[in-house]
Amino acid sequence: MLADCFDPTTGNDPRRPHWNTERETMAAEPLRALQLDKLVRQVRYLAESSALYRAKFADAGFAPGDLRSIDDLAALPFTTKADLRASQDAEPPFGLHQAAPMDRIVRTTATSGTSGKPVYQGYTRNDVLRRSESVARGFWSAGLRPGHRIVNGFALSMFSAGLPFCVGLEQLGAVSIPAGAERRAEGVLKIIRDMKADALTLTPSFASYLVEKAPEVLGMEAKDLGVKIIVGGGESGFEIPSFRREMEERWGTPCVYDWASASDAHPNVFAHCVHRTGKHHLTADLVLVQLIDPATGALKPIEHGTEGEYIFTHLDREACPLLRYRTGDVLRTYTTPCECGRTGFRMDIIGRSDDMLIVRGINLYPTAVVAIVGTFMPRTTGKAQVVLPAAGPKVEPPLRVRVECGEGVAPGTSGDLAKSIEAAIRADLSVTARVELVGYGQFQRTEAKTKLISIET
Ligand SMILES: [Zn+2]
Repeated sequence: MLADCFDPTTGNDPRRPHWNTERETMAAEPLRALQLDKLVRQVRYLAESSALYRAKFADAGFAPGDLRSIDDLAALPFTTKADLRASQDAEPPFGLHQAAPMDRIVRTTATSGTSGKPVYQGYTRNDVLRRSESVARGFWSAGLRPGHRIVNGFALSMFSAGLPFCVGLEQLGAVSIPAGAERRAEGVLKIIRDMKADALTLTPSFASYLVEKAPEVLGMEAKDLGVKIIVGGGESGFEIPSFRREMEERWGTPCVYDWASASDAHPNVFAHCVHRTGKHHLTADLVLVQLIDPATGALKPIEHGTEGEYIFTHLDREACPLLRYRTGDVLRTYTTPCECGRTGFRMDIIGRSDDMLIVRGINLYPTAVVAIVGTFMPRTTGKAQVVLPAAGPKVEPPLRVRVECGEGVAPGTSGDLAKSIEAAIRADLSVTARVELVGYGQFQRTEAKTKLISIET
């Protein structure tokens, strides 16, 4: 077993607070030394084995021996999703960045392809072990232990939270139940009931949809199913306190946690611990995460309250390793100590750099608007969408915001609801908005992700 991975066969005491205490509670100095040691080896490996990075290093006039500190990485260009697509077009299936030969690759995943052609990833055995390690760290952090029966409600077909989660949950020692979003709400609800599942992992919008379908499919409320732990991910949702509270109430459990990971290359992993004061970076020994200013690309130190787009560098990925990969996710970071003892910084995703809107010089993310709408529950469902006449980022005020009314609230008879939301948006975000209320149930409720921006001419 790799030193990076906790070996559960040598003792998997469910009372221990962290999956891998040694790695999850490292002090800053030894962690940085470990990261640098791995980085030096990884950069040399990329120069030897990855045609994409060999070319990028040559373009930048960079030799692997030039890397003496983590800061020296800044001399190298970013890797973008467009780079990965071009790399794959040039050398299918995995691309010019593939660094391990095909006979060492044992697993594949792909992005959904909703924003273009899917990006395919390969994994060696070592990659699979580290991936399972990161999944185990994240779920342990949410209180999952051997004996828990956990239904995976993510898409299983090719998705990085599908099969890799199931295997990671087996590594943790939980009863892994690969239901899969492909079974639709009906199938997943029946599996939860029949397997007496006490934990779920799925997208927040699917968790919400299951609540609505439970009475019709099972003749019972979701809160009577006995689910004790819910770990959401794949989209924003559970980091919005109002929505999380609604799910806690409707599933009948206070343990609703959020998880985040860049699905382009899923370095993993950011996850809530039970204190839920932002999601911890749990794999700083496996993935170097840095923040940049999305406009200038300049590095920003990770401090309490810093906001920036996160980029990452795999420290020991073998099959399809990435360096300075731009995720597009904009984070706010927190560095005060957490009671759980994990030392990884914590964060909330506050938006996507490509979703960022500029309204009269003010930067605004649609997720901030949704969070405000959520404070008006139950008069709203917490669901909202920014409606634009053309693609951003520049938007002329007032900002059109479509908001779904709560159950039993008719848009025409809701009095000052729209005006109150407009006032809250102006007060919190300094932007003038025009709120359009739509009736309960008008927003699409499906297994798919909810769109935050709608472009309507
Ligand atoms: Zn914590």
